[in-house]
Amino acid sequence: MSESNTNIQVIIVGAGYAGLGCAIECKRKGHCVLVVEKVDELKVLGEASWISSFDQFLTIFALTGDVISLGPNAGRILARWGLHDELWDICGHAPELRLHDYQGGLIQVQPLPSPIFGAHSYNGHRALIHDVIFRHAVSLGIDIRMGQDVVDYWEDDDTQKAGIVLSSGEKLEADLVVAADGIKSQARQYVLGYRDQPRPSGYAIYRAWFEATEQGVDTDPVTDFLCKDGDALYGWIGQDVHMLASSARGGKSISDNNYVAGCWSAPGHIEEVLEIVKEWDPRCAAVISKAPSCVDWKLIVHDPLPTWISKTGRLLLIGDAAHPFLPSSVQGASQAIEDGVTLAVALSLAGKDRVPLAARTWEAIRYERVRETQLMGETTRDKWHRAEVGDKGAGFDLPMPEWLLAFDAEAHAYSVFDGTAKNIMENGYQLPSLKATS
Ligand SMILES: Cc1cc2nc3c(=O)[nH]c(=O)nc-3n(C[C@H](O)[C@H](O)[C@H](O)COP(=O)(O)OP(=O)(O)OC[C@H]3O[C@@H](n4cnc5c(N)ncnc54)[C@H](O)[C@@H]3O)c2cc1C
Repeated sequence: MSESNTNIQVIIVGAGYAGLGCAIECKRKGHCVLVVEKVDELKVLGEASWISSFDQFLTIFALTGDVISLGPNAGRILARWGLHDELWDICGHAPELRLHDYQGGLIQVQPLPSPIFGAHSYNGHRALIHDVIFRHAVSLGIDIRMGQDVVDYWEDDDTQKAGIVLSSGEKLEADLVVAADGIKSQARQYVLGYRDQPRPSGYAIYRAWFEATEQGVDTDPVTDFLCKDGDALYGWIGQDVHMLASSARGGKSISDNNYVAGCWSAPGHIEEVLEIVKEWDPRCAAVISKAPSCVDWKLIVHDPLPTWISKTGRLLLIGDAAHPFLPSSVQGASQAIEDGVTLAVALSLAGKDRVPLAARTWEAIRYERVRETQLMGETTRDKWHRAEVGDKGAGFDLPMPEWLLAFDAEAHAYSVFDGTAKNIMENGYQLPSLKATS
């Protein structure tokens, strides 16, 4: 790896939201970054092919999925990178969430202002947003090596290096290895020294994304509510199930999410989803029937890890590898981006000779905030799964707390790094024990 301003060499495993966010911010701070990603190619999709073939997304993108929402806490970082205009063009702009009980009674209308707390949210297709960030990383000259499967990790206190082993047998070393290898992280076992066992959450989620016009959403009087006035976001909540339906790009693209309790088997079948909503507001079945196909995701939960850092402090986990989120938190990718930004600042302030201190200070800064955010997702899921017909009011809000969304990870890291690092050096290093996932 070549030298850079700080001469801190960082290898990042995984080019998802966490890995790319970390790489971009490390590059901005003058660290020397190499990203290795096991997928061969993240295809840039042309306008003609995007969305219309949902299955194509599943095969092209290991990162999979459909809609993703980046809150203003991530939005202010993306805007700082100069990506606002490009993201705004591909995202949905529903002005409000119209929330109903499962029979269609309106519970409340929640305004969704953007900007809020000084920054925009970005809600769009996860592969397209990811593509904007990926291309930005490439434009900065970040070395991203695709088709590189990391099969092992190592660290050496004597040489003060850590590194990775690729499936080709090649060994690479750096001052710090950042494992952003997602929910099925292999690095997690290396860091913990044991295999962490995820638990089934008891929930599954069906998701679909398709073109409104191609599927006749805009010409069917039962479903045109989703597109006739531009972008819209509708929700229905019941006992142990909720459904969200939204449109993006001026009502042209539709996203459909059913979040249900139970045990579901892949692949998703539209008939199974229709069975769930057969007693529901007829608009639900009508929208679901328009989807050409859907994905069935089983949601698993991990209890908080006791640490995200290896013994020497030269290998660490970020993003879903460290702290997977329930979709109802609407924060997994935003927190992944915050992780990388905070780490890049910590490395700058600690310097090349104190990389382990940077890692421990970074973890101490991030640990409780991430957990608070995860717990908020559990609370939202629970309140959305106990709605009765006839319920009304703001108690069912999608939470938009200032502590979460007004946050600037970069400014925060600069302001608390010295105090946190000093505390670690003087009093030792201990993380709080955190509440398990429900
Ligand atoms: C159904 C669902 C809905 C969600 N909705 C939202 C939402 O609306 N808003 C939100 O903010 N979050 C949402 N999330 C969470 C969000 O998707 C994740 O938190 C986020 O994508 C995590 O990014 P990551 O980079 O940590 O992991 P990933 O995106 O999984 O990236 C990991 C990368 O590492 C690579 N990799 C893995 N192993 C290796 C290896 N051995 N060698 C090299 N590379 C490797 C993978 O190929 C992949 O590219 C949702 C999650 C789910 C399951």
